[in-house]
Amino acid sequence: MGALPVKPDVLRRAVAELFTATGATTENAGLIAEHLVEANLRGHDSHGVGVVPLYLKSIAAGGMVLNQTLKPVADRGGMVIFDAGRGAGQVMGHRAMEAGIELAQAQGSAIVGLRNSHHLGRIGRWAEQCAAAGLVSVHFVNVVAGPIVAPFGGTKARLGTNPFAAGFPRAGAEPVVVDFATSRLAMGKIRVYRNQGKVLPDNALLTADGLPTNDPNDLFADPPGVLVPFGEHKGWGLALACELLGAALLGGETQHDGASDPAVINSMLSILVSPERIGTLDAFGAEMAQVLAWVQSENAEKPGQVLLPGQPEQAVRRQRMDGIPLDPATLSQIAQAASESGLKGLIFQNLAREF
Ligand code: NAD
Repeated sequence: MGALPVKPDVLRRAVAELFTATGATTENAGLIAEHLVEANLRGHDSHGVGVVPLYLKSIAAGGMVLNQTLKPVADRGGMVIFDAGRGAGQVMGHRAMEAGIELAQAQGSAIVGLRNSHHLGRIGRWAEQCAAAGLVSVHFVNVVAGPIVAPFGGTKARLGTNPFAAGFPRAGAEPVVVDFATSRLAMGKIRVYRNQGKVLPDNALLTADGLPTNDPNDLFADPPGVLVPFGEHKGWGLALACELLGAALLGGETQHDGASDPAVINSMLSILVSPERIGTLDAFGAEMAQVLAWVQSENAEKPGQVLLPGQPEQAVRRQRMDGIPLDPATLSQIAQAASESGLKGLIFQNLAREF
């Protein structure tokens, strides 16, 4: 069964209406909808509207708090820390980056700690927000939702999929955006494989008994399967650094036992630098242009073979502006979650029926 193309605007309105109906302010519902649809637009369906059922369950269980405001808990030496009190990540992340951008533009750099937010979604979004303001940024994030990734050398789940992102603005071109989970596959990607009835690539998932598997259903079995880190010991090291920098250093929640939670809690350490304010803007632009031309030059006879991080998402975005393909399983999961929460979610029911 195929997928139904849905116009981004239609999807944004439908998602915003669901969150307004759950009690979010129009502005906050708009930020949530905008972020989720942008993830679909950029090809990351794992972090797009397919997470709505998870969010509705989390709101009902008190795991995600709508209309929360950032609470400043430290402001020292160019570093600010906010506690997000489990507020919607799309809102908390946006506000924390706004504060960090203002600080970095005033003093050249800023370190922003955002602790105990609900799911921050696609982390590259925060790098894009900084890049749009002319800032280079780096983001280390932990995930507390019950362990799901085994350490390198182990077979038992110990951490979350702890993502990392970095963004580099370019004059007259789209930014370079590095953005990935430190597991070989992000958890939401396994859900997408399952919903689309596809088998997983090798070396992404172990069964609960520690055996390699290509079946996405094994992740949702009882007991559940276990994801593995990307890049063997190196990905594992970065995953641990995300846990320690993203959360422990900020006094945020860490994943240190097997307890699971309907909420997905993210803490994030972001470093923002203004090349303009530190006086390297021209040199940075010129050196980066040379580096990017050089790294892509080897395959000059086959243009487009070496992609820069961020380019795959930018290309998918151009294609999907006319319609985001949504699969029937995702649509009916949203419709069902909406009705279980006492919401109408009519548009999703109608779309699901069109298959
Ligand atoms: P992925 O494996 O698709 O990797 C994406 C990164 O690789 C991007 O920077 C992309 O531009 C780059 N890339 C892809 N193909 C490329 C190519 N051929 N050449 C050069 N660069 C290329 O990403 P993922 O690990 O599946 O993560 C998906 C999303 O999930 C990310 O946005 C991440 O932030 C998000 N995530 C969020 C959480 C959370 O708790 N909030 C947890 C894990 C992941």
